[in-house]
Amino acid sequence: MAVRENLSKLSVLALRKRREGLTRLLPPLGEIMRGSLMERYLTCGNPDCKCARGERHGPVWYLSVTLDQSHRSGCTVPGEQVEQVRHWIENYHRVKENLEKISNINRELMRRHRKQNKKTKKAGK
Ligand SMILES: [Zn+2]
Repeated sequence: MAVRENLSKLSVLALRKRREGLTRLLPPLGEIMRGSLMERYLTCGNPDCKCARGERHGPVWYLSVTLDQSHRSGCTVPGEQVEQVRHWIENYHRVKENLEKISNINRELMRRHRKQNKKTKKAGK
């Protein structure tokens, strides 16, 4: 996770511009996959196979997905799909990072708005 920037030093205009830039940098939301890609060595289950004696098959590409604290899921990824899966996983992280940044900007903008409101109320008295 990136270090939290000090947004309070940026102007409202700069914050809005940055937010706009971040939304433009979002990858297509249909091209997303959560999980991690790893190489695995597998056993095939045949007791007479060399893999039963420790010489496992592979490496094969495997997608591992954490479902919750105690559950994982996963599947092997065919070689011709590895690049796409890798790309989709990158997209997932990019979306997540950008959403977090946009959310931080919006919180800062809300804070500014509140400040501005207080000022105008005082001025009106
Ligand atoms: Zn085997």
